[in-house]
Amino acid sequence: MTIYNLGSINIDHIYRLDHLPRPGETLGALDYRLGLGGKGANQSVAAARAGSKVVHLGAMSDADNWVIEVLEGAGVATSGIARMAQTPTGHAIIMVEDGGENSIVLHGGANRALDPEQLAANLSEIGAGDILLMQNETSLQVMAATQAHATGARVVYSAAPFSIDALRAVLPYISVIALNELEAQELFAALGSDLPVDGLLITRGAEGAEYRDLRSGTTHEQAAFKVKAADTTGAGDCFAGWFAAGLDRGEDIPTALRHASAAAALQVTRQGAGNAMPERAEVMQFLG
Ligand code: ADP
Repeated sequence: MTIYNLGSINIDHIYRLDHLPRPGETLGALDYRLGLGGKGANQSVAAARAGSKVVHLGAMSDADNWVIEVLEGAGVATSGIARMAQTPTGHAIIMVEDGGENSIVLHGGANRALDPEQLAANLSEIGAGDILLMQNETSLQVMAATQAHATGARVVYSAAPFSIDALRAVLPYISVIALNELEAQELFAALGSDLPVDGLLITRGAEGAEYRDLRSGTTHEQAAFKVKAADTTGAGDCFAGWFAAGLDRGEDIPTALRHASAAAALQVTRQGAGNAMPERAEVMQFLG
């Protein structure tokens, strides 16, 4: 059916520096790259490349048309992205010290300024069989989850950046929570592991991933594929997007996990986040 993804859109400005700037210092960058990021956009691209019909719901500036072109180029429908005249697209200034630390300045911009009426209208066709995917980088999560849940759609919540308050607010409407190991520890510390959802998808980096089916009490383990990682930014988004697409396509859990793990393994061998999401054909070839 359709994955509606209420998700952030961020423009990443990535500067390579020989050291991080000190207070008062003006520093020339060694290199500059511009990229599309945000957990929302990354997961939309991942799910679309996995073969799902994906409608991205969000907001950005009415400048930055290249972002729309990148999303459309990946097969993501952009009609649910509001274009704002006065609010900047969410963006990150990412400073990377050669061989060392990073510093990041993040501005949520339009991601935090969504219009409830517009979002309700864009979600008006969601129904049973569809999936609402969300992360914790936009406003209006509770509204969207409530509306989707009421129609019988499944809500898949990628609980990052982790906030127990944000999670608690959407918990009654969620079917699957996707999170990494550190986030899972925070969740269990706050709420215990007996949660009112169908399942938990927990990723553990190079250690693999697991899906805990909380209805049946079954846990499905998936090893990570052994690859030489070049850049693990967006690995979790790749996994979550591919896993949501697997659910959407009616795959069983072991198959969805295996495909997501292969996709994330390919993704970490490449530089970048959203741009590094593999196509379905590449994943099938990788799996032989
Ligand atoms: P996050 O980016 O949210 O912290 P993880 O680091 O847990 O997420 O990575 C998500 C998934 O990406 C892992 O479960 C695994 O399948 C894959 N992955 C991450 N790092 C590697 C790696 N070095 N080699 C192979 N697969 C990896």
